[in-house]
Amino acid sequence: MQTHQIANFKANEIIRKCVHCGFCLATCPTYQLLGSELDSPRGRIYLIKSSLEKNDFSQESIKHLDRCLTCRSCETTCPSGVEYGKLVDIGREFVEQKRPVWQKFMRYSVRKLLTTPLLFNPIGLVTKHSGKRGKAVIPSVGSKKVLLLGGCVQPALAPNINHSIKNILAKLGYDAIETPQKQCCGAVDQHLSAEHDAMLKIKANIDAWLAYDVDSIISSASGCGLMVKDYASMFKAGDEYYQKAQIISGKTQDIAEFLVDKDLSKLNLEKANISYHEPCTLQHGQKLAGLVNSILQQLGYTPAPVKDSHLCCGSAGTYSIFQPELSKQLKVNKLNNLLASTPEMIVTANIGCLMHLQKDNKIPVKHWVELLDNQPN
Ligand code: SF4
Ligand code: SF4
Repeated sequence: MQTHQIANFKANEIIRKCVHCGFCLATCPTYQLLGSELDSPRGRIYLIKSSLEKNDFSQESIKHLDRCLTCRSCETTCPSGVEYGKLVDIGREFVEQKRPVWQKFMRYSVRKLLTTPLLFNPIGLVTKHSGKRGKAVIPSVGSKKVLLLGGCVQPALAPNINHSIKNILAKLGYDAIETPQKQCCGAVDQHLSAEHDAMLKIKANIDAWLAYDVDSIISSASGCGLMVKDYASMFKAGDEYYQKAQIISGKTQDIAEFLVDKDLSKLNLEKANISYHEPCTLQHGQKLAGLVNSILQQLGYTPAPVKDSHLCCGSAGTYSIFQPELSKQLKVNKLNNLLASTPEMIVTANIGCLMHLQKDNKIPVKHWVELLDNQPN
């Protein structure tokens, strides 16, 4: 795409890579639902381009950008390597200044609520998904230490996930140190265009996590894992945090990456007929499509193929709060596809998807690692 006088170098570079081919349209969830070019990746790239050229975003452009889930399905499809996710973040930062005051207030309130445990935990008590099960396994003396990213909402909503991971890792000879709940990765701030607040959290995390001096940093929420892996690209060479961010991102792994080459034969597995939902942040963001499925199959599970498994479930961070109608339609479609094989349980790899798919659905939804820490009642 040709550009004219776009001051932002990165945006200019990304937009120029787009060759208008339109391959991305077929895999964009909002284009599939709404059928409008302006709600497709190519349309949004054009909107961002013309808005940056004019140095102005209309309210209509803001509407179409807000409808984007940032699922990055378009990146997976794009043959030209257009980094759509980075472009939409640049566009949104610019848009933020143009928003009406009431929208800014709503976004600020949601952001603070989700990232302040003191505010969120009481709500978490009401909306809680599951509690801790069973006793924690004590790791053997001399075990290797790993850092487990506890997450900000996960410990309040589904504490069993981190508890199960600690049990699994202890059985494999690792001592998992869980980060305190207040250490949010910064994704909520960043996705709501609060760059300054995100950076404060990112820098504080980098300093805090480096002090643990571990070889591996493990994430069980694919959205948080993606964000921490992205820390490395957020600082320019020469910045005092550049090298430190490379180290943190380089050590960060999704729990599936950590477990894939381990001997899992000693774990107690929960037998179940399952359907697996792969989060966008795992398949399109972290580019780990198929990894959890292959581990589950090696363990003897037979998750049935899910139609349109590349499409977002509609959770997408705070999308379900700000775009409830579209989010609900995507969830209905996703659940229809996940339940087509009549499973006893749905498993996934991100707390946001888990909570979203559990709401108004009678089939239990769990994190897939919970299957590996079966504790008979
Ligand atoms: S990130 Fe997702 S919703 Fe947004 S344009 Fe790309 S495919 Fe569509
Ligand atoms: S697939 Fe890539 S190059 Fe083609 S229109 Fe979409 S973003 Fe542009």
